[in-house]
Amino acid sequence: MSESSPSGAPYPYEAPVSQALFDRASAVTPGGVNSPVRAFRAVGGTPRFMVSGSGPYLTDADGREYVDLVCSWGPMILGHSHPEVIAAVQEAVARGTSFGTPGEGEVALAEEIVARVEPVEQVRLVSSGTEATMSAIRLARGFTQRSKVIKFAGCYHGHVDSLLAAAGSGVATFALPDTPGVTGAQAGDTIVLPYNDLEAVQEAFHRHPGEIACVITEASPGNMGVVPPEPGFNQGLKDACAKNGALFISDEVMTGFRTSRSGWYGIEGVKPDLMTFGKVMGGGFPAAAFGGRADVMAHLAPAGPVYQAGTLSGNPVATAAGLAQLRLLDDAAYETVDAVSAQIRSLVSEALTKEGVAHQVQTAANMFSVFFTDRRVRDYEDAKRQESFRFTAFFHSLLANGVYLPPSSFESWFVSTAHDERAVQKIADALPAAARAAAEATA
Ligand code: PLP
Repeated sequence: MSESSPSGAPYPYEAPVSQALFDRASAVTPGGVNSPVRAFRAVGGTPRFMVSGSGPYLTDADGREYVDLVCSWGPMILGHSHPEVIAAVQEAVARGTSFGTPGEGEVALAEEIVARVEPVEQVRLVSSGTEATMSAIRLARGFTQRSKVIKFAGCYHGHVDSLLAAAGSGVATFALPDTPGVTGAQAGDTIVLPYNDLEAVQEAFHRHPGEIACVITEASPGNMGVVPPEPGFNQGLKDACAKNGALFISDEVMTGFRTSRSGWYGIEGVKPDLMTFGKVMGGGFPAAAFGGRADVMAHLAPAGPVYQAGTLSGNPVATAAGLAQLRLLDDAAYETVDAVSAQIRSLVSEALTKEGVAHQVQTAANMFSVFFTDRRVRDYEDAKRQESFRFTAFFHSLLANGVYLPPSSFESWFVSTAHDERAVQKIADALPAAARAAAEATA
C-alpha cells in the first residue's frame, strides 16, 4: 500500500513490512494499535512496528534503524536493552514471574523511592500511571471526605474517567474535547482550570468552600508539549490546598526519576501531600506507584478503609527491572542525560533558525519539545495555537532520515544516557532537511 501525506504529496519512503503488520493489526485491534498516539494519525503515514532496541536506537520491521527520541514515552532513560537491567530481569524471571504474595523486590523498590523522594513516607505499587493517579484521587477523596477535584487543561493523568476532561497527550492529538463513555456524573466533580493561572485556582476554592478534595497537576507538564510551571505556581497550589483543607497531588509519572534523581520535586522542592510515579521506575515494565504523607497513606486498605488492589501490583519481574534502573541512575547519569538534551535542543533550534522557522524549544530539565510558534507557550490554549502542520513535515523528514520523534506535536521528546556522539551526529545530519521541510510546509 503506498502512502501519501494529507496534502497528497507522497511521504519520503514506504515501510512495506510495517504496513503489512499494521493491516493485520487493524483487522483485530481498533485502529491497529494498543494506545492511540502510536497510530500516527496526527502526522499520517505508516506507524513503524519496532522489532528491537539497543542503546539509543530502534530497529523497525523493515530493517531500518532510528535514533529514538521517544524512549518508550519516557521509561528508557538508560537506553534500550541496558545489560544490567536485562540481567536483573533474566535473574528475576528465572525465579518465577508472579506469586501474588509479598516479595522482597517490592520492598526494595519502595525503599528506593522513599529514600529518593523526601515527601514520600509510604508508597503503594501499582501497574500503570493511570492506576496511580486514579488511586491517589480516590485516596484524597476518602481522606478529605470531599468530592471535587481540580485539574488543569492540557495536563494528562492517564485515562482515568474523571480526569479525561481537557486532557493533553493523545486526547489533544485527536482534539477530543471529552470522550464518549465518561458520564456527566463522572466528570461533574472535576473542575478544569487553565494551567499556570493561580488566580483561577483561588477563585475555584472560593466558589466551592469545603468541597475540593485535591488539586492534581503534572509536576511539570509534558503532555501538551513541554510547558513548565511558572516560578511560584506549584508553591501557590500547595499553599492554596493547605489553606483550604485540600490535598496537593503532584503527578510525577513522567518527570519522576527522569528530571532528577528525585524527579521534579528534586528541582523545585515544593512538597506535595501525594505523588504519583510510573515510567522510569518500571525500567520498561508495567510498574507505577503513588505515595506521600504517612497519615494520608494510612487510610489505604488494609491499613484503612479506602480500597485499592492489584493482581500484578509489585510484580517481581517489573520491580527487578525498576530497581536495577533506579540504582544505575546516579548523579553522573542525570548529568549525561541533561547534557545530551541540551546538545540536541541547540541543534534543533539552530537548524530551524537557519531556515527562518518560528519556533520555541521549551525545556523542563532534560525533557523538551518544539512548538512551531513565535510565542512562549504557557498553557494549553497557547499550545493549540502552534502551526502543527510544520511539525508534520519536520517529523516525516526526520523519520525518513532515521530519527524517531514522538508522532505528535503535543508530546515531550525523551533522551537517554545511551545517546552518544554517533546518535547525536545522526540527528545533526538529519536536521537541515527537516528544518527546510518545516519551512516549506503549508497548512
Ligand atoms: N500521568 C502522566 C503525567 C503521564 O504522562 C501518563 C502517561 O503518559 C500517565 C499519568 C498515565 O500513565 P500510564 O500510561 O502508565 O497509564
